[in-house]
Amino acid sequence: MTRPRSLSATLRARLDERRAQNLYRELKTLAAAPGPRAQLDGRELVAFSSNDYLGLATHPRVIAAQQVGAELGAGATASHLVNGHLQIHADLQQKIAAVTGREAALVFSSGYMANVGTICALVGRGDQILSDKLNHASLIDGARLCGATSLRFGHSDLGALQRRLERAAAGGNLLVAVDGVYSMDGDCAPLAEIAALCREYSAWLMVDEAHGFGVMGSATLPLAGSAAAAGLGQDEAPVLMGTLGKAAGNAGAFVAGSRALIDYLVQFARPYIYTTGMPPAVASGCLAALETMEQEAQLRAQLQRNIAFFRRRAAALALPLMDSTSAIQPLPLGDEHAVMAVAAELQRRGFLVGAIRPPTVPAGTARLRITLSAAHSETQIDQLLTALAAALPAAAGAGA
Ligand SMILES: *Cc1c(COP(=O)(O)O)cnc(C)c1O
Repeated sequence: MTRPRSLSATLRARLDERRAQNLYRELKTLAAAPGPRAQLDGRELVAFSSNDYLGLATHPRVIAAQQVGAELGAGATASHLVNGHLQIHADLQQKIAAVTGREAALVFSSGYMANVGTICALVGRGDQILSDKLNHASLIDGARLCGATSLRFGHSDLGALQRRLERAAAGGNLLVAVDGVYSMDGDCAPLAEIAALCREYSAWLMVDEAHGFGVMGSATLPLAGSAAAAGLGQDEAPVLMGTLGKAAGNAGAFVAGSRALIDYLVQFARPYIYTTGMPPAVASGCLAALETMEQEAQLRAQLQRNIAFFRRRAAALALPLMDSTSAIQPLPLGDEHAVMAVAAELQRRGFLVGAIRPPTVPAGTARLRITLSAAHSETQIDQLLTALAAALPAAAGAGA
């Protein structure tokens, strides 16, 4: 019998393999990240990599509310069901329910936990979960962990989804889980059509609004996200998940839906039950962020202007844009090496952009993930594009 390999030899081999594949990831330690500016190694860079779409992470009102919230205690000191649930959490949940047009909402410590916890609470052995191929890792992990039969369908492929629904075994329950706005592609799910299919086949629809919440919605619910923008309410999109770490500029997440759904999750969502409550300061900052979103509609308008400006200028420079109207504007380069080279060149020129490689995206689809914010100026966007136009051929030359 061969003995198992030592821990250190195993780790070394796997890390070496990662490096050889050009997939090794490194942390960038920032001194500060105030708004769209980031300080790295003593230099100030303009960041086009954060998910702080409205600039609320540095909004004075949000920071002040977070400081006041800290007076309630630095931590919640226990799980929500023990003694970690404060009035500020209840107030935040009520505000989330109001802006999403749902009966109730429940806050989680992170979006990852909200997705895993909700999926595992809703479906299990004997049920089926159908997921879009490009769903966020947290939805995928929920599908893996929940015990239900987990099937993927081609990205936004309604025919493929319908075939999956058609063939679903009778007996168990059916959950369809999709991103409303895809985190690495920036495109929106065809939610009205997906909801119609769910109705036809009695499947439950779960929409992850990590990138739609706060920046898109309907005329009456402008912050509610992509499901509202597609005309869907609580009946059509009964399980609505959103995060507070993206447009709200803070941390945490929520699920919004019927009173029964929320009561149920409090009973059965283990990542809600078995973890320390959200720090009160975070809840206070998030509540102020949502109030600011409601009152400062110009932030959303500015984000839309910046997206339009970026796309117009990028098209004029013949940059390879993807079909995205959201704040996520990826530039597909395909090759991991090229992506790292262009990102490094941009950093030399003063810009921080996300370099996204497998396994975050499928093999062969490495890309720069450029994210826009209301806090960017047209000058900053223009300078990024000029740098990109220079960096792309330079990197291609270096890679050849
Ligand atoms: C960021 C993200 C999450 C996870 O949210 P966190 O609060 O950061 O854990 C979930 N889904 C999508 C689509 C995301 O982009």
